[in-house]
Order: sequence, then structure tokens, then C-alpha cells
Amino acid sequence: MEVKALNGSFKKGNTLNKVKIAIAQGDGIGPEIMDATLKILREAGANIEPNYIELGEKVYLSGNTSGITTEAWETIGDTKIILKAPVTTPQGKGYKSLNVTLRKSLGLFANVRPVAALHPYVHTNFPNMDVVIVRENEEDLYAGIEHQQTDDVVQCLKLITRPGCERIIRYAFEYARAFGRKKVTCMIKDNIMKLTDGLFHKVFIEIASEYPDIINESQIIDIGAAHLAAHPERYDVIVTSNLYGDIISDIAAEIGGSVGMAGSANIGKNIAMFEAIHGSAPDIAGKNIANPSGLINAAINMLAYIGQSDVADKIKNAWLTTLEEGYHTADIYNNKFSIKKVSTSEFADAIIERLGETPRKLGVSKLTSGTGEIFIPEYKRKEAKKQLLGVDVFIDWKGSNPEEIGGILSGINAFKLKLKMITNRGVKVYPKGLKETYCTDHWRCRFVAVDADIETQEPVYKPVEFEQVLALLSKLHNTGLDIIKTENLYEFNGKRAFSLGQGE
Ligand code: NAD
Repeated sequence: MEVKALNGSFKKGNTLNKVKIAIAQGDGIGPEIMDATLKILREAGANIEPNYIELGEKVYLSGNTSGITTEAWETIGDTKIILKAPVTTPQGKGYKSLNVTLRKSLGLFANVRPVAALHPYVHTNFPNMDVVIVRENEEDLYAGIEHQQTDDVVQCLKLITRPGCERIIRYAFEYARAFGRKKVTCMIKDNIMKLTDGLFHKVFIEIASEYPDIINESQIIDIGAAHLAAHPERYDVIVTSNLYGDIISDIAAEIGGSVGMAGSANIGKNIAMFEAIHGSAPDIAGKNIANPSGLINAAINMLAYIGQSDVADKIKNAWLTTLEEGYHTADIYNNKFSIKKVSTSEFADAIIERLGETPRKLGVSKLTSGTGEIFIPEYKRKEAKKQLLGVDVFIDWKGSNPEEIGGILSGINAFKLKLKMITNRGVKVYPKGLKETYCTDHWRCRFVAVDADIETQEPVYKPVEFEQVLALLSKLHNTGLDIIKTENLYEFNGKRAFSLGQGE
């Protein structure tokens, strides 16, 4: 069964019934830029019905730490589409990030941020830049699973899932196809994180093969980010995991000259949220000087999503024409290309006056060129044969000499499980570590059942039962060692599914 991930996207002529939209007016400059945006939508003929919802600072300060009311959730459940102005997160502990709450609760798995240069009207060193970052929005280090394990060591779990990779990567290719883009670049760090980033890369290669019409390439994130900063015009669509995407989408917005101008979309199955990328700018709130362009762009993407691409293009072309003609808010005002410094509401009026016009120098908006809807097939798990091969036991030990703990642990075994190595911060320190390696109080002790291959002398892992692990843990516990966590070591379909220690 196919699941629609972009409900109604790019469909033309969905005009009979007004499309209900949940509108969050936000905090700070939020209400000003929302008023400006909604006025433009109205004048352009957008067929929408705004349903106002309460979220943000007022709700937080009323004692609701989630920042969103029950009524707002109900409205969102009804409309399935949200246009959101930025909100202020109050300082201090206990307030949860509203954006993370909305993304995760609503399953908004894709964050899509287009950044295109508006040279020469908005300053950028990269006049030909036109890139779309497709960022995975729910997983990775943002799963929020963190623990302190010893006096010295805290950890954050990086979770990458196959369904998560499949849908974000397929989304990127489908987006490229639908919007006439030519290339998708995957950014990963699988030279270091061979299993997690390795999975993202593997799924990218698998899915890329289904899109022969789209060029695909992969880059290691560090050099990829550097190239994006230095040569953004080389990129078209970039797909990446949550943290890398967070960082490179800000790099892209910054070098595109458009932090105050860019909008983003958060897309889930049949539900989506559109917003500007900037915050609530309390420093300029209430002054009618904020640039509403970020929210206008978010609304343009929203209109394309709900099948009103013709209205979206009409607004985008009027917006581009207004910028070209030099009507600029204070943040982008410059002596060379600006003819008038306009307020938020004057900027909106200037756009409304130009509805129906097309820009002469900046490229004409072609959102209507989208060819179809974006489909993400329902995930089908392929079950593999899973076999336990051993266990990593993490121990809080305050000594400093690996030989000492190695000596203790070598004397403890259960059935076939024996100590194979100890690492500290991932580096092998026993047996035969280097005395220069710095050791904390966090020792990863690997117990496996291995035989050496008769011919090659390579280690051959032997299957073990979980009872053996339990017996081992019991023995370790009885010696007084402080076990802080364990991690089972598996093979899937005969393939080792855990990393080796550095130097193992
Ligand atoms: P910010 O983006 O609000 O402001 C940074 C700077 O950019 C300020 O000088 C501001 O005046 C300027 N600026 C931002 N948007 C502008 C616009 N449209 N026109 C003209 N100038 C603009 O970032 P911040 O000051 O770090 O954050 C303020 C508040 O916004 C915080 O409470 C933060 O948590 C929140 N925030 C919300 C979102 C969101 O709701 N999506 C995103 C980021 C920050």
C-alpha cells in the first residue's frame, strides 16, 4: 500500500472548498509578519480558511510547559496544516521546545529548506546559489536519549533507523523529481560511524538506483559542509541526517544572505507545518519594521502543498518584483539597490500592488511545474537472522591502569564467554594498549566466545546464549564491579553488527 506523504501536493484546481489552515500568530514580531502574510494570501485569492490556535509564550507562562493548548492540538488534528509564526521560548528550565514537540508528536519527518540567492538585491557572495536542504527531522542525536554513567562520562544515543532513512531519502528524490531538480547529494560521516551513518549511506545508494533520471553523489559531511560554504552553486538538493542538516541548513541560509528571508516546511504523512526560519526577534517586536519574507515564503510553500501552486507563484513573482524594484525592509536596505525603506505593512502592500506581475531580472517562479504527488511507500521490514555473539559490559572503575582491570576481568568467564578486549572512550587499552592513551572511569569490556580460524588465525565468533551473558553479569557483579550498562553483540544474517574498538 502506498502512503501519501505530501497530501494534495502540486495538484491543481483544488478550489471548491476552502482549505482549513491552523494559524499560530506566534510571539515578538510573529503577529506583525502573520498579519502581513495573511493579507497578501487574501488579496492573491488563496482559497484558505484560517483557524487560529494558541501556542507559544503566553501558553508557557500560563504554566503549560509544553507551550501548546489542548484546543490547539484538536484544531491541528482537524486542519492537518499549520502556518506558524516564530514563538519565544521563555528562559529557564522546564520549558520544552515547541518545535521539537510539534515535529515529533506529528511525525513531521522531513524538514525542507530551500535557499536561493536574490542577487544583487539581497547581498550574497554566491549569486547562483539555489539549494534545497532536506533534513531528517526526528531521529539521530535528537532522539534525546542521554545518560550520565560515571562521574566523568555522559552519553547521547545516536539512533538511525532504516524506515527513517528510507522515507527521508525517498522524499529527497521525489522532491527533486517533482520540482525539476537534477541532483541529490547525500552527506554522511560513515568513515567514522560505519553502522549509523553507514546505514544512511547504504539506503541512499539503494534508493538512488530507483531514480536514474536524478544524478546522485555522496560526500563526507565535513568536506561537504566546507564545499557548501565555499561553492554552494555546485549543490542542488542535499539530504542528510538531523544534526548535520541542522548545521548545514543554517550555513546555507547565512551565505545565501537570507536568514530573515527563508521559509521552511516540516512534512509528515498527510500533515505539514510551514514557518519562517528566524526567531521571534523580540528586539524589534511591535515596531512594524520586521521583514515578513520568511513567513511569506513559508506560506508560498504551503500553497504549493495544498494544490494552490498558481496562487503560490503569483505571490512569489510579486514578492520578487517588489524586491527587484527596491522596496526593502530595514534589514535588507542598501544604498545601491533600495529605493525605499518600507515597514512590514508597506512591504506587504507593495507586494499586493504587484500581484500578477513577474520579475524582470530574478527568475520567474515555476512552482506549478511540479509533476505529481510525493509518495512514500509504507515501510516493509525485512527480518534477518539475528544471532548473539557476546556482550559489551560497561564498567565504572576508578583505577587508571588498564592492566589492572584487564587482569581482574581475564580471570572471570562464563561458559564460552571470555574477555576479548577493553576500550576506554572507544580506544583499545587492553590487551597491549599504549601508555599514552588517556583513560576515564568508563571501561567498555568486550566478552565474546571466539576461536581462531585454523588457516588464517582470524577470530571466528561463536554463537552464545543470553543465559551465558546473565551468568557472566552475575559473576562480574559478585566481584563488586560497578556495571553501568551492557550492549549485546549480534550478527545479522551472518554479518557482524557491531564496531571494532579503535586499535582492535
Ligand atoms: P531571532 O531570529 O529572533 O533574531 C536574531 C536577529 O535577527 C535579531 O537581531 C532580530 O532582530 C533579527 N531578525 C530576525 N528575524 C527578522 C526579521 N523577520 N526581520 C528583521 N530582522 C529579523 O533569534 P533569537 O534572538 O536568537 O531568538 C529570539 C527568540 O526566538 C527566542 O525565544 C528563540 O527561542 C525563538 N526562536 C523561535 C524559533 C521558531 O519559533 N521557529 C526559531 C528560532 C528562535
